[in-house]
Amino acid sequence: MLRSDPSTNIAIPKLPKEIEGLRKISLNLWWSWNPRGKALFKHISPYLWKESGHNPIKLLKSLSNEDFADLINSEKFMKEYRYVLTLFENYINSADQKEKSLPVAYFCAEYGLHHSVPIYSGGLGFLAGDILKESSDMNIPMVGIGFMYPQGYIRQIIGSDGWQNGTNETIDKDVAPIERVLDENGGHFTFQVPFIDPPIYASVWKINVGRVTLYLLDTDIDKNDPWDRQISSHLYVPDLNQRLRQQIVLGIGGYKVLEELGIEYSILHLNEGHPAFALFERVRSFMENEKLTLESAIQKVRQTSIFTTHTPLQAATDVYSFDMMSNYFSDYWKRLGMSKEEFLSLGVNPDEPESGFNMTVFGLKMCNQRNAVSKKHCEVTKEIWKSVFKTDNKDEVPIDYITNGVHLPTWLSDELQKNLDKTLGENWLELQDDTNLWSQIDNIDSKELWDIHYANKIAMVNFIRERVRQKWSNEGIDPLVAMAEGVMLDPDILTIGFARRMTSYKRADLILRDLDRLEKIVCNNEKPVQIIFAGKAHPSDNPGKQMIQHIFKTAQNPRFKGRIAFVEDYGEEVAKYLVRGVDIWLNNPQIPLEACGTSGMKAAINGTIHFSSMDGWWIEGFDDDDGWKIGFQTSNDEKDAISIYDTLEKEIIPLYYDNTDEWIKKMKKSISTIAPRFSARRMMNEYLEKFYITISKKEKK
Ligand SMILES: *Cc1c(COP(=O)(O)O)cnc(C)c1O
Repeated sequence: MLRSDPSTNIAIPKLPKEIEGLRKISLNLWWSWNPRGKALFKHISPYLWKESGHNPIKLLKSLSNEDFADLINSEKFMKEYRYVLTLFENYINSADQKEKSLPVAYFCAEYGLHHSVPIYSGGLGFLAGDILKESSDMNIPMVGIGFMYPQGYIRQIIGSDGWQNGTNETIDKDVAPIERVLDENGGHFTFQVPFIDPPIYASVWKINVGRVTLYLLDTDIDKNDPWDRQISSHLYVPDLNQRLRQQIVLGIGGYKVLEELGIEYSILHLNEGHPAFALFERVRSFMENEKLTLESAIQKVRQTSIFTTHTPLQAATDVYSFDMMSNYFSDYWKRLGMSKEEFLSLGVNPDEPESGFNMTVFGLKMCNQRNAVSKKHCEVTKEIWKSVFKTDNKDEVPIDYITNGVHLPTWLSDELQKNLDKTLGENWLELQDDTNLWSQIDNIDSKELWDIHYANKIAMVNFIRERVRQKWSNEGIDPLVAMAEGVMLDPDILTIGFARRMTSYKRADLILRDLDRLEKIVCNNEKPVQIIFAGKAHPSDNPGKQMIQHIFKTAQNPRFKGRIAFVEDYGEEVAKYLVRGVDIWLNNPQIPLEACGTSGMKAAINGTIHFSSMDGWWIEGFDDDDGWKIGFQTSNDEKDAISIYDTLEKEIIPLYYDNTDEWIKKMKKSISTIAPRFSARRMMNEYLEKFYITISKKEKK
């Protein structure tokens, strides 16, 4: 049987032996959530580090032998290098396995880890990325399975008419922090996805996420015909046939990879319905490898698998017609000894039995551990799926919830982390979900906190302006476009941020509903306000694109004096600048369509105050001291817009401009009450307690 090692990344040049360790460090994303790791690469050359887009492999590739010699001769650099290498090695080798969980195989269609590995589209991916990072930090034994998406990233370009155009960016596999998994002959490990006829092949890559390994399947290989090579090219292809094939490769192929590589796992955790076919392959594997009957294999799968649902709408789940399913699975159900009816009935939604095989229904039926991602989302989920559990009473529906959290070392600014070392003590990260510890935030010097925030704000404004400058110098854009993209932003003005996927229910342009009133707010001479928007629409979502256009055209309107901006190409990098740099994080989804939301958490932990509809996580996170709420229990565009304007005029703007002390107090409250409760640490402790350890105890008996 194959092992997952050795593997290679062909990109990194041969390094002098004195600094050979840079290879290890750059091939593990650990550096990206360790301030000293980041500082080490910056130390090599601040200019080249920026030019590389903060990609260590690109950076190392751009260095000459003379550069390496200079580094080795620099005592200061070598000292820092040895320090970081020791830190890294201690981290990787630390065996303190606090929690006795069996190994977990975590499946997700996307992962948001770092912009040098663009295999994500939005919130689901960042949640999955944060789960891998936190599992690494907590030493939870876990492997991730996902997709490579060679052309997965759509670079958003806004035309001068405000219309979103996109170009597919091909991942440059030579400078991404990924490694080939090798077969016994040293070739790229490639396998056939089981029982799919005609055959589909996939090769396997890996990414080191601290102590966790993420395996990525890639169908873009010579062995496949062009139609099949495209399977993993984009995220969430709209063509249903291709989407089904994608999910077969992810679920069934992904499960097969674990077996082929001899990777130990005992618990299967499915993040959303996309990879749910892994459950079939798990049944098959228990039957064939452990000689279980179909019934006991299914029972064992149910006992040891977890399904996490993220959507509050039945309509947003994947459903495949029975004909389509039969095209691919007719051999498969025979192999399991099931009839067609038995097999397909596992995905039948009792509310629309004719519609086909529903991936979420399948996940809910085949996993005894099921969870929604916030308290409110749990109520909604129970209501919409109660018929799957043959009841009219939603309280009888066996679905739990674990509210999402964010990986603190990834999303907190380095400067704030440094300050926390001082304020909370060096081991604050170890104790990060302890609410008592965070009450010591009151001891942060208010001016220091303000200075950290202000520095982040300037960094954000500089970043936005620099992007426009480049677009200006490359394309010679119209001055009004430059204005709309943010050249006139001013770090001394109260700044509202709104950045997320541009789709109707998020109502990005709600604040533009009454332009006269908005103009009075934004262009007030004494107490001006600026608003920064960012976000992508799915390429086939025209209402989303129209929303962007509406915002962009408003930003181009001289009456707003350049104080409304739309920043192109929202992604991990833009998100990091915005959540740390703006003063207010605005979130006004249509209730109850925000299952949880995480960008507001990233903002709040940095002292960027959350101002949101009472939906998703904010119902649990809000109190009068740590943020503001919008409107009412149900959504109404008109009323909600008025509520936004009223709160801005009566509370937010006066507090910001007239009472800085109280503002900073609110920032402190935001950090201290939200960081511990909405950390990925708290979330993973819940996954451990509710699911991983409970399953482990039963299995070990
Ligand atoms: C956190 C994050 C998201 C998810 O944010 P929501 O508030 O759930 O919409 C999406 N995109 C990026 C780049 C993020 O960092």
